[in-house]
Amino acid sequence: MTDRIYNFGAGPAVLPEPVLQEAQRDLFSLPGVGMSILEISHRSKTFDEIIQGCEVDIRQLAGISSDYEILFLQGGASLQFSMVPMNFLPSGRKADYLVTGSWSKKALKEAKKLGTAQVAATTEADNFNRVPAQSELKLDPAAAYLHFTSNETIHGVEFKTEPPSGSVPLVCDASSDVFSHPIDVSRYSLIYAGAQKNLGPSGVTLVILRKDLLGKVPENLPTMLDYKVQAENKSLYNTPSVFGVYIMRLVMKWALGQGGLEAIGKQNAVKAKLLYDALDASGGYYRPHARPDSRSNMNVTFRLPSEDLEKKFVSKAKSAKLDGLKGHRSVGGIRASLYNAFPKSGVEALVSFMKDFAAKSA
Ligand code: PMP
Repeated sequence: MTDRIYNFGAGPAVLPEPVLQEAQRDLFSLPGVGMSILEISHRSKTFDEIIQGCEVDIRQLAGISSDYEILFLQGGASLQFSMVPMNFLPSGRKADYLVTGSWSKKALKEAKKLGTAQVAATTEADNFNRVPAQSELKLDPAAAYLHFTSNETIHGVEFKTEPPSGSVPLVCDASSDVFSHPIDVSRYSLIYAGAQKNLGPSGVTLVILRKDLLGKVPENLPTMLDYKVQAENKSLYNTPSVFGVYIMRLVMKWALGQGGLEAIGKQNAVKAKLLYDALDASGGYYRPHARPDSRSNMNVTFRLPSEDLEKKFVSKAKSAKLDGLKGHRSVGGIRASLYNAFPKSGVEALVSFMKDFAAKSA
């Protein structure tokens, strides 16, 4: 492992080293199979065991009952922006959206193309530096669903509790904080997440969907965009991302081995606190973007005194083997992504680099 560096990238992102090692060992030939995972049929017994095993591990990890379907789809979280309203926003109904950053804004934009989607709260006036307080939510009790983005990857703001949706089905884009802490799935009707942050490689999207919702899916949707078809076919209507599901299975096993979501949540809180404490103790040199009550444990976003210094910071950090720290092109600044597989030693290395950088440039 001598030539691996610390990868703070927002996604595709760092994966657990034991997962990469196992995948590397098995890439040429899966034990007992004599073919690579890249070469086997998605209808083979071997893959059947992998996808079913992955589902079992996901259910165990997050305590998901048989009231829910677990789907492995393609098209990324971005396709879910469209599939959710296509399946669950009939004409004559409205859907509520909480707009807390770039990703929820995109989800809303797609929903508006397909039906009546309304903003139930937005923090855009505050440059998306926080999630809304419950008192700010203008929820429609007759809404077809309430959509929110549990963690805004670009702005670095995260909901600490679910918005109270009452009897309105709760739909969540959890792409960048899925399985980063314990979750009560029974509060949700649908959770979706692109895999490439906490779950595996890009190319597979996890969808956790309450089965009773499938009765609401309209007839005659394009086949691939119909959750009912995907559920009836156990995500095998067409060829799924075989490799993506295989890696996800290994990541889920690793997550269970870490002690599950309780233990992972604690590790993530410790890592994030190390970095936020360093920002807060910098005497204003480093300015965190998110308000303390909305700070993301996954994506820590901050500014330096000038854009020139930010450029220098990113480039010097890269030379110090701390990569992927440049903020998203739409907001600038610095972003350190600390997903489940990101080690605490990497946060310590960044904090030490930051102290040194601030001292030298002061
Ligand atoms: N939602 C969130 C919160 C994201 O972070 C991302 C990607 N970074 C997306 C949606 C879009 O995901 P994808 O690229 O898988 O379509």
